[in-house]
Amino acid sequence: MVHQTNIRKLAEERETALSPHAQKSRLSQGRQTPEEPCPIRTDFQRDRDRIIHCNSFRRLKHKTQVFVAPLGDHFVTRLTHTLEVSQIARTLARALNLNEDLAEAISLGHDLGHTPFGHIGEEVLDDLYPRGFRHNEQSLRVVDILERNGRGLNLTWEVRNGILNHSKTRAGFLAEAESEVATLEGAVCRIADVIAYVNHDSDDAIRAGVITQGDLPLAAVSVLGLRRSDRINTMVSDVIDNSWSVTGNTADEGGPAAVAMSKPILEATHLLREFLFERVYEVHSARQESDRAREVVRRLYEFFNQHEDRLPAEYRLLDDARERRVLDFIAGMTDRYALRVAEEMSLLDGNAVQPRLFLPE
Ligand code: MG
Repeated sequence: MVHQTNIRKLAEERETALSPHAQKSRLSQGRQTPEEPCPIRTDFQRDRDRIIHCNSFRRLKHKTQVFVAPLGDHFVTRLTHTLEVSQIARTLARALNLNEDLAEAISLGHDLGHTPFGHIGEEVLDDLYPRGFRHNEQSLRVVDILERNGRGLNLTWEVRNGILNHSKTRAGFLAEAESEVATLEGAVCRIADVIAYVNHDSDDAIRAGVITQGDLPLAAVSVLGLRRSDRINTMVSDVIDNSWSVTGNTADEGGPAAVAMSKPILEATHLLREFLFERVYEVHSARQESDRAREVVRRLYEFFNQHEDRLPAEYRLLDDARERRVLDFIAGMTDRYALRVAEEMSLLDGNAVQPRLFLPE
């Protein structure tokens, strides 16, 4: 029988066959609080497991991706989005001979800081909180501090860096230079995030009757494919081929030195993404149920700032300023929990958000 202690070492040994550009778990910059390594799992495998078992991960199930409180069972939630990102990131990491465990851990943790009601919740909190709010910074705060009643998950530096730097801004989509992500596995997750959401958001918008298949910009779908599966396949294959070729590497050298889409596919993806901003995200944001969602978040924020004693014990114990603790509590809420608390505290004047049933046209 192999002694347990050797199992992690065998896994670390296997990582020496990865690309010279892959992040090896043994060479991690480590955890904020040093810990004995696990006898079975590498540090990145252990981080992935900590994320899967944390409370914020479970709450992703009831957080909106784009459509507020939809009743249809096939709409994407933050949880299914996260799983899609993880699947795409792992495929890319394997194909580029990078560290799949690290890519998986970053993907599973990247959206833990998302607010209730999708980007609508994020915008309201960003307005209300004097220092502003961004979901990627909140994801890091969740794993560093908020989980385990203020002790955090004590993850490795590389996973934390990937989580903090996962998102692309609308303006900076085509410029990879803005990224401060330190590992290629982190770069893989940034691309996987976009590939996942431009495709499932197009599908959900069609499912919700906001757009039809024929509305998708022809210049994008003629390059990327008509069906969602074709488009994902085009994008993923392109990242793999382009990364291997653009950096002039061959398989003999062990792996590419950069991860990127080719220009034509990046431009087609950009076109599809801009279409979603104009025809789906902004239109949805102007709908009545989005206004009500804004109202819920605003009232919760006011209420708990006036009634600090009503915060749950774990948020009262944090040694931050009151507004920060209120922000942490609200940002962590699921859509349904936010609605329930607002109703229980009678904050809504009978003006509750009704979950809306979206049916295809
Ligand atoms: Mg995401």
